[in-house]
Amino acid sequence: MIGITTTVPLEIPLAAGKQVFDLNNLFINHEEPRILTEEAELAGFPRNTCGWIKGIYGIIKRLDIRELIAVTEGDCSNTRALMEVLATEGIRAIPFAFPFSRSKQELAAQLEGFAQAFGVTFDQAGAIKKDLDRIRAKIVEIDRLTWQENRVSGFENHLFLVSSSDMKGDPAAFEAEIDAFLIEARNRPPFREKLRLAYVGVPPIFTDIYSVAESLEGRFVFNETQRQFVMPSLCGSLTDQYLSYTYPYGIFARLEDIRTEIERRHVDGLIHYVQSFCFRQIEDIVLKKELSLPILTLEGDQPGPLDPRTRLRLESFLEMLKARKTR
Ligand code: SF4
Repeated sequence: MIGITTTVPLEIPLAAGKQVFDLNNLFINHEEPRILTEEAELAGFPRNTCGWIKGIYGIIKRLDIRELIAVTEGDCSNTRALMEVLATEGIRAIPFAFPFSRSKQELAAQLEGFAQAFGVTFDQAGAIKKDLDRIRAKIVEIDRLTWQENRVSGFENHLFLVSSSDMKGDPAAFEAEIDAFLIEARNRPPFREKLRLAYVGVPPIFTDIYSVAESLEGRFVFNETQRQFVMPSLCGSLTDQYLSYTYPYGIFARLEDIRTEIERRHVDGLIHYVQSFCFRQIEDIVLKKELSLPILTLEGDQPGPLDPRTRLRLESFLEMLKARKTR
């Protein structure tokens, strides 16, 4: 079992026979995620540390995970500090970096070093990629059913897309789950919500943002980061695939994708989710400068439902969008 803190070239550890788990997913799906963040604070993590970092630390300790993949570039400095703490506790970390330059050559070199660290060849990773791409294509179909046929809720979309980072630790079982869901979704009547929403930013620490939006007649038809985890471009080579993945390469790489998708999906308004104490909050300035549709920024700290103030802000935003649409 090897843990990941963000999306990595999954093909390589899988080719080495590892079972890969995204620690973010294990943390947020834990029955008491808040206790995990409190345990991290008891271990010395400052209160003003990102909740995801504290949760990841908490779940590593709970599950006694001994090996991790550390993304040293293209993730965040909080993760780097987390790795340093874990190193003092004897936890082994295998590094991988998404070069900020987004240079194909540099990324190819990184992938080569990463494959060597796991003792696998590119051909072996390529064979795994074929299997994963088949699963990814099915998740892309779930995404299409969300925005084009309106048969999938924003939360279902979020869940399937976000789970592609580790294929739930068992690609074959995950594929079977996707197959069953696709049959069900294709045979449903379409949703008829009043508002089409985009979700941009890191996945939410809030547990009910999708259901609250739906209760207010808005459905998320685009989950930006979660969709990126799927590697939706389905490129032929490993290098091209992780080059087309926008998330590690800064806000401008992401903006291009966001613009294309909000237009294609006829989005009425955008929610920018930011995590308390995360450097990505600053990117909100660029998003608001560069995008012309209405944007609401929501900040979350601890896992759990929307707090009353955030819920009220979401409600007012959706009311404003509805009024704008009927004008
Ligand atoms: S939310 Fe921000 S600070 Fe927290 S782990 Fe993600 S990138 Fe790092």
